[in-house]
Amino acid sequence: MSEAYNGVKFTTVYKDKLPPKHEDLAVLKQWCKLFHEKGLAPPYPGGSYGNLSFRTATGSFIITGTCIGMKDTLADDCFVEIHDCNAATKEIIVTGMRPPSSETFMHYTIYQNRKDVQAIFHGHNAQITQNAFALGIPETPETVAYGTLELAESVLGILDSNNFIVIKEHGFVAMENTMTLAGELAIEWLKKASTH
Ligand SMILES: [Zn+2]
Repeated sequence: MSEAYNGVKFTTVYKDKLPPKHEDLAVLKQWCKLFHEKGLAPPYPGGSYGNLSFRTATGSFIITGTCIGMKDTLADDCFVEIHDCNAATKEIIVTGMRPPSSETFMHYTIYQNRKDVQAIFHGHNAQITQNAFALGIPETPETVAYGTLELAESVLGILDSNNFIVIKEHGFVAMENTMTLAGELAIEWLKKASTH
């Protein structure tokens, strides 16, 4: 079961209060829509569960903003570019018009530890999370609160070279070296979970 969404747990520091610009934003938008359509990012009042990002050539990454409805047509200002994260001060340095996804620290931690990963798609789907053990998907050992450093650390604990993991009683993370591969990986596991 997913914990109810109750806001971000960090401070957003705006380097520039502008929408991020990147030619691959269109691809990210397509995947947001597909995640909604496939039931991989279920809606809640005022947003959707799940957050998608890709790494840029300059070392930053671009992620869905908080309270983004993935069923909607998303404008550039629904996304936020992350320049840096400070775990000690719980500050996130961004270019954007709104706070980034609540799970930005988790994305940051994965990008720091997996130089091969260029795209991270986090979604929520009960069939996948409930069947993780049966399907042999690596799973974090304990339930932890969303949006915390503890959640990012628990993911790091099972990350290894795995490209698909489950966050216990929460959701899944698909990571790959392109957005298309990350999205396809999530859909592949959804199919396996559905027929299980
Ligand atoms: Zn989540």
